Amino acid sequence: MSDLAKNSNLRIDGTALWADLMETAQFGGTNKGGVRRLTLTKEDKQVRDWFMQTCQSLGCEVSYDSMGNLFARRPGQDNNLPPITMGSHLDTQPTGGKFDGILGVLGGLAVLRTLHQSGYVTRHPIELINWTNEEGSRFSPPMMCSGVFAGIFTEAEVLEKRDRAGIRFGDELDAIGYRGKEICGQHPISAYFELHIEQGPILEAEDKIIGIVTGIQGARWYEVTVRGKDAHAGSTPMTLRHDALVATAGMIEAVSKVAKAHGPSAVGTVGLIENRPNSSNVVPGEVFFTVDIRDPDDAVVLRMEQDLKALMEKIASDNKVTVDIVQIWDAPAVHFDPSCVDMVEQTTLEKGYTARRIVSGPGHDAGYLAHVAPTAMIFVPCKDGLSHNEEESILEEDAEKGANVLLGAVLKADVKFNSK
Ligand SMILES: [Zn+2]
Repeated sequence: MSDLAKNSNLRIDGTALWADLMETAQFGGTNKGGVRRLTLTKEDKQVRDWFMQTCQSLGCEVSYDSMGNLFARRPGQDNNLPPITMGSHLDTQPTGGKFDGILGVLGGLAVLRTLHQSGYVTRHPIELINWTNEEGSRFSPPMMCSGVFAGIFTEAEVLEKRDRAGIRFGDELDAIGYRGKEICGQHPISAYFELHIEQGPILEAEDKIIGIVTGIQGARWYEVTVRGKDAHAGSTPMTLRHDALVATAGMIEAVSKVAKAHGPSAVGTVGLIENRPNSSNVVPGEVFFTVDIRDPDDAVVLRMEQDLKALMEKIASDNKVTVDIVQIWDAPAVHFDPSCVDMVEQTTLEKGYTARRIVSGPGHDAGYLAHVAPTAMIFVPCKDGLSHNEEESILEEDAEKGANVLLGAVLKADVKFNSK
């Protein structure tokens, strides 16, 4: 039998995949059925320990690099070939769900389980990767360690990042015991596939099971500090105030207006704000907030930035405060490898799953991996398009189908990328 005929018989064990999803949801599980598993916390360590043990029980060797990225390796026939890889992230938002990121890791685990139980030997080694700090909610920016892997950030700069409590990334990585000896990025790979929930409403609305992801829209993040003057709320007349929060209110509205003006796909969000001194009888003297703008077209992102900066400066001067806008993240639009995208599409056709091509709204580790290896992604629907929410929900059968596409794409890549 040919390799392709043999591997077309392989199937994911959907029941085991679902059991893994429910089991890992306990690490940082919340009362509302979500998960709070911020990067490099004790819950992150718990899920990493579980990942290591489970992968080892499936015959894999697990290692981690200097950024704490985890690699579970299943040997192939030719272990000099760079591995075909799968992966995503096990960290979550502060009020995250059970599937964002986790599905991609545990879907990859399901692939390893299928290979292990069938005894199928691939030509390449197959590796499953858990990327450290994808979410960026504790340490900014997001996709930090796939970013180091792809040479976007340096290890030194990431180690010095601090969370809002002033705690250093490097110290927390040491504290959970996952700082490895292999230098992050010195790990050649043949191809990378990431399964993920869509985190948007399109697949569900069109009644499609699989999203064949062709790329990721461009995004920019900013940190904005508005400075006025603290003053007594009782004795300072309205005309003499330098109220940083009133100015900020206008700026937040401006973010929304600019995004709408550049529609239909442009989006703009202020999701984090800190008001200082945050006291009921003090005119706020300083406000810190973040801005996130995105569009599939980099030129639109640039025009949004220009419009926003002009509006914010005008609002600041109208309110007699100053504004300082610092860009902290710039992720240009990503276009995935056409041959990897075709492998995903071909698999959906063979399996008879309904599918459509789609551009990802959110950023993903795959966006950085695309800089260093042929890369593609697979989406499955999530209920009401809801994500970064404790109510995030997917169908068990969709998780299984998504993992089946991941398996099929990995096996195709194993055949195709075999030339030395
Ligand atoms: Zn994610």
